[in-house]
Amino acid sequence: MKRTTRLLLIAILILAGIYFFPTWIFEKPPPARQEVPAGHAGDESLLSAFGTHPGVYHLPDKAIDASTIPNIILRKSDNDDDPLPYFRIAPDTYLFYGNIALVDTLNRAFTANAGFVITDDSVVVIDTLGTPRLGRRMIATIRTVTDKPVSHLVLTHCHPDHCFGASAFRRLGGVRVIAATTGAELTATADAAARAQKRYALLPDDMEGFGVVQPDIPVLAGHDEEMIIRTGGKTFEIYNAGTRYPVETLLVYQVEDDIVWASDLVSSQRLPILGDADSNDILDGLDWLQASFSGAEIMVPGHGSAQRPPFPMIERNRAYLQQLQEFMERSVAEGLSEAEAVERADFREWQDLPLFRLEHPVNAGRVYREMVQ
Ligand SMILES: [Zn+2]
Repeated sequence: MKRTTRLLLIAILILAGIYFFPTWIFEKPPPARQEVPAGHAGDESLLSAFGTHPGVYHLPDKAIDASTIPNIILRKSDNDDDPLPYFRIAPDTYLFYGNIALVDTLNRAFTANAGFVITDDSVVVIDTLGTPRLGRRMIATIRTVTDKPVSHLVLTHCHPDHCFGASAFRRLGGVRVIAATTGAELTATADAAARAQKRYALLPDDMEGFGVVQPDIPVLAGHDEEMIIRTGGKTFEIYNAGTRYPVETLLVYQVEDDIVWASDLVSSQRLPILGDADSNDILDGLDWLQASFSGAEIMVPGHGSAQRPPFPMIERNRAYLQQLQEFMERSVAEGLSEAEAVERADFREWQDLPLFRLEHPVNAGRVYREMVQ
């Protein structure tokens, strides 16, 4: 063999070695198992895009006006007293900034935001994340910051990602649970039971100790009459936002610190959450947020980064819903079927949001049906 041919052969072998090297030594991690949302059964290829990325733990460097999204990975073998990652967003105010993903065996239901506020006397907690184990780990996290007792837990609404950790706080004793009455009743309904069943199937250890938590203090509908809690030199105004969301939702305004916990009335890094609600009700909620709290220091949504004024998430959510309404009104007028209209609703401006391809077609169908009525 000529020397040049031999060198060429060696070079090819080296290049091939470099090319195939990673697949030789790194075994691909097994895919995470996921909770399949209603209406998406069997659509595995679509769903695989919406989970937590294996092996790339990421926490943004800030939780206010963040430009990246957390990719928090939790392990089944973690202990209940292992603290969770959290952010201090104001001197006494702490945020658990969740992944924007379907619940899977990597994020273990850390897919929403929750938080706590330390007053001179006690701790006030807002929402509990998606399993009793996450509730226990929230408590463990609070214990790394303060040994003051938890005096109040506000459940903004009883969707699993926000309230399935509540039983952990109930077990602490001495915690006053505040919820919209229908929110607490929801945990007892067939729908919630089905959701709990799904979560048991996926995360049985994490769901250990799950139970229905009834509120000690119900906050009834009618956002004009706020409920006020005063503890340790801080004031919390709690509003029931009524029908502005699929279930009655509480908003918490932390008066002295000028911080709004808006829950799922608004989202950042995610499309507005429509569920079974009428899009006009969601728009009404956004208008109310804007009119009542646009002067606040910080606004924390139920999902995605917190923001400082002018809270661009409000305008983003509104623009999406208004464009969707206009698009669907036109589609109905043109005689398109629902399937055709959803297919054509190509909202590229929002397509980079992590759950876009999952949530947009559902929203689009929902708003089409509103326009037919
Ligand atoms: Zn939510």
